[in-house]
Amino acid sequence: MNILIMGPAGSGKGTMSEKILELYDIPHISTGDMLRENVRNNTELGIKAKEYMDAGHLVPDDVINAMVEKRLQEPDCEKGYLLDGYPRTLVQAETFAEISDRVQKPIEAVIALEVGFEELEKRITGRRICPKCGAIYHVNGHMGNKYGYCDVCGTELVQRRDDTVEQLKVRMDEYEASTKPVIDYYSGKGLVHKIDASVPADEVFAQVKEVLGKVA
Ligand code: ADP
Ligand code: AMP
Repeated sequence: MNILIMGPAGSGKGTMSEKILELYDIPHISTGDMLRENVRNNTELGIKAKEYMDAGHLVPDDVINAMVEKRLQEPDCEKGYLLDGYPRTLVQAETFAEISDRVQKPIEAVIALEVGFEELEKRITGRRICPKCGAIYHVNGHMGNKYGYCDVCGTELVQRRDDTVEQLKVRMDEYEASTKPVIDYYSGKGLVHKIDASVPADEVFAQVKEVLGKVA
């Protein structure tokens, strides 16, 4: 299965991805997670990306495209992919059309999560993540079986540097200007499934499951 999951910051892409992986044996490729790992490890790519990420801006297309192309050549992508947070610009979408052609893995479904700003603000400011494995938590929801520590790997949870109201506004502007056109681009190809993601996660997942069940 070859899936893209799209939506503004905080719409639940990572949360739904964790659940989609229970259905399909495919790798979850989150460009945000990959970049954060590079920042943590102080790689050349991470050093380049950090200032954009901290400000809530998009990292330049060439950096992202090269990173995704390399990742898709890894053996676990033989089975397909769940791409989270990519493509985010029309340039990325056009480059991805070439990449997916080359690896002969055409997109089968684009899941577009839709949530209003007020709800996004609550989700973003309360989000906590595991800095090691990327697992997602929320201060008003589950915060780990041992409060504040990751259930998967035991690491202390942290707040992302860009999870502030100010950065959310910048990210929303980037989304409207650069990423909405990508959804229109895929709509034109008949690939987009819009999902009301403002409801509780289990209800969002029920919708996602129904859509994917019809595609597979
Ligand atoms: P994204 O990957 O799109 O930025 P996340 O999956 O990280 O979004 O979700 C953002 C925050 O909102 C997390 O703290 C998560 O626990 C919470 N969350 C995700 N989906 C829902 C939902 N349907 N209802 C309430 N909170 C949610
Ligand atoms: P995310 O984890 O998806 O919220 O992404 C966090 C940050 O990483 C974004 O605000 C961008 O700075 C950067 N980023 C992630 N994916 C992309 C992408 N496809 N294109 C450009 N920047 C990205």
